[in-house]
Amino acid sequence: MNKALRHAVIAGNWKMNKNRAEAKALIEEMKPLVKDAGCDVVICVPFTNLETALAATEGTNIKVGAENCHFAKSGAYTGEISADMLTEMGVEYVVLGHSERRQYFGETDVTVNQRVKAALEAGLKVILCVGEMLEDRENNITAELVAMQTKIALKDVTKEQLKNVIIAYEPVWAIGTGKTATAEQANEVCALIRDVIAKVYDKDSADAMTIQYGGSMNAGNAEELLAQPDVDGGLIGGASLKAKDFAVIVEAATKG
Ligand code: PEP
Repeated sequence: MNKALRHAVIAGNWKMNKNRAEAKALIEEMKPLVKDAGCDVVICVPFTNLETALAATEGTNIKVGAENCHFAKSGAYTGEISADMLTEMGVEYVVLGHSERRQYFGETDVTVNQRVKAALEAGLKVILCVGEMLEDRENNITAELVAMQTKIALKDVTKEQLKNVIIAYEPVWAIGTGKTATAEQANEVCALIRDVIAKVYDKDSADAMTIQYGGSMNAGNAEELLAQPDVDGGLIGGASLKAKDFAVIVEAATKG
């Protein structure tokens, strides 16, 4: 598999952090630091910060994403946001299937699949999160579990639509814990996901697919993780809230 065939993408996942003034300040600090990035730079921000982020990033190389969207086009879904509402604003990306959504908000592989299809149909680029819990790793079922999550999430997604999907491998035990997967563990599962894509779609699709690692990636460990042959970028939580740390990760992805 040839890494040069793919686009490296570093995406920040701000989670439920930053008010509008703080969001603007963080973006203004980040802009000059990432302006020469040799990878795609995305910030996925709370719904309430989308407008601020879109205005502050206009004319820059920073793309804006949301952290979730609903599968219905509209209707009686109090508290939810549709994919069309996001594209209408000018949002380009959406994170779907994040483990915090699965863990705390009852999302399943099936609802993740519904959201993925709705987002792609609306024209969004999807960052699809998959990953095992610590218990799954200890029970030696990481490969089966991640393959299953990937296959169900992408059910009925066409080969053409797949071009707008990035997969983020995020071992749940490494998210927000400071416990990073080793570079070898990250690469092994990213390669396995690529094999699943090759089997379900074809080798060209697998070769072209951007597969990120996420889970306590930071300024200190990014270079080693991003140098792995099957790791094409990162989904960054905590470290994306610090402009300088985020920029170091972007720089590491630029080196590849
Ligand atoms: C995430 O939220 O997707 C994530 C990887 O978080 P952190 O980098 O803080 O572990």
